[in-house]
Amino acid sequence: MRDSQAVTFLVGLTGGIGSGKSAAADIFGELGATIVDTDAIAHELTAPGGAAIKPIRDAFGAEVIASNGALDRAAMRRRVFADVQAKARLEGILHPMIRAEADRRSAASRAPYVVLVVPLLVESGGYRSRVQRVAVVDCPEEVQVKRVMSRSGLTAEEARAIMAAQVERSQRLAAADDVIDNGGELAALRPQVEALHRKYLEMAAVS
Ligand code: ATP
Repeated sequence: MRDSQAVTFLVGLTGGIGSGKSAAADIFGELGATIVDTDAIAHELTAPGGAAIKPIRDAFGAEVIASNGALDRAAMRRRVFADVQAKARLEGILHPMIRAEADRRSAASRAPYVVLVVPLLVESGGYRSRVQRVAVVDCPEEVQVKRVMSRSGLTAEEARAIMAAQVERSQRLAAADDVIDNGGELAALRPQVEALHRKYLEMAAVS
């Protein structure tokens, strides 16, 4: 148990699409870390009744809100595609709300440390300065493509197009304090996460 005055030790967990961030985060969670997942927060904010629905409706109109009250992702994608400023406006609404909620959940944690899962951590300056440690889940690009295809039914071209919009593997690795190699079997992930867990417990204890 940490006392309420203690500053939360934050580990930023990132990696390209399909690299295995969620798989690694699940193991950190089992070991006792608090997991704060920015993608999950984004989904909650844009679900029916989510706090981002009203500002998004005010900015873009009711046509981007589905009949169940959630953000209509397809309609929003069309807007963003047709209007370059729409993406920046949407992010201007969502990103500060996501960061605020991530901060709130991190501060509320009573675990020894928090793993903040941020897919675009290297791309977005805002999170790098918030975390004490950057852990990158890494695997070869061809493995990423295969996993994304089998999980989401995307074509190889669609998977590569998403990867092309993210930073390159080498840049991500250059930003890493710790690298989790997920190019092999899932079973190889656990011992690496366990070793990092021990390291983070020690680091958090002296921070
Ligand atoms: P995204 O950025 O798209 O959210 P992610 O980085 O969180 O992805 P996961 O969802 O953990 O990645 O993994 C992507 C897919 O690959 C999942 O279907 C997962 O079960 C599978 N997977 C993850 N690691 C391995 C592995 N070592 N061997 C085989 N399959 C794996």
